[in-house]
Amino acid sequence: MALQVHQFPCRTDNYGFLAHDPRQGVTACIDTPDEDPINAALEEKGWHLTHILNTHHHGDHTGANTSLKKRWGCTIVGAANDAERIPGIDVGMTDGDQYQFGSLTADVFEVPGHTTGHIAFYFSSEGIAFVGDTLFALGCGRLFEGTPEMMWNSLQKLMALPDETIVYCAHEYTQSNAKFALSVEPENAELVARSQKIDALRAVGKPTVPTTIGQERATNPFLRPMSENLQKTIGLSGADLVSVFAETRLRKDNF
Ligand code: ZN
Ligand code: FE
Repeated sequence: MALQVHQFPCRTDNYGFLAHDPRQGVTACIDTPDEDPINAALEEKGWHLTHILNTHHHGDHTGANTSLKKRWGCTIVGAANDAERIPGIDVGMTDGDQYQFGSLTADVFEVPGHTTGHIAFYFSSEGIAFVGDTLFALGCGRLFEGTPEMMWNSLQKLMALPDETIVYCAHEYTQSNAKFALSVEPENAELVARSQKIDALRAVGKPTVPTTIGQERATNPFLRPMSENLQKTIGLSGADLVSVFAETRLRKDNF
């Protein structure tokens, strides 16, 4: 694997990620939740920050863009259609674009729903995806700016990636997500087993991120509107998938 990923906690429940290509000596920070832990991580690894890859405009994802750019002179890559909300953006990306990062290529997907200008970066040669606040371990982002239909379309783009794809999501929300997931799909044996593993990891302060597409497809209720067990629990047996997804999201908001 050519891309080295270093993950570290930021703020209350964010993760910071550094992605390093040793062949060309470039390093990207995926989103910029907080300046100090990012600089500390760069120092620890001995890497120079050359890029910021922003998934969306929220402050816990772009808050340190300006200060990091000032210090490192790095190139900031983000969603073209949200450029006015991404501080310091240099390169705007749209759906289907590819970004050349050192010797590696990132495929860019537009995945609106949490915000209208949310994008994901997929390094197909590495089997690695950075998905921001669109897909979480056992969860998905709140619909602050988009519709359920928009978000369901976005999640389907991510679901189409290979099962073994390693998914870096931006928050450690998994334990509370698991409680909700069990409430809507209690008969999913894989979910029951996974939630026990999650409790064990969190009890000793270990991260539950990254996850994989295959694991999420098997246990994440937001990727499972087709599940008969889920449909039955929320009283929507046989309903269309967008309606089931929308009701699942609504119930999570009120959980
Ligand atoms: Zn967000
Ligand atoms: Fe966030």
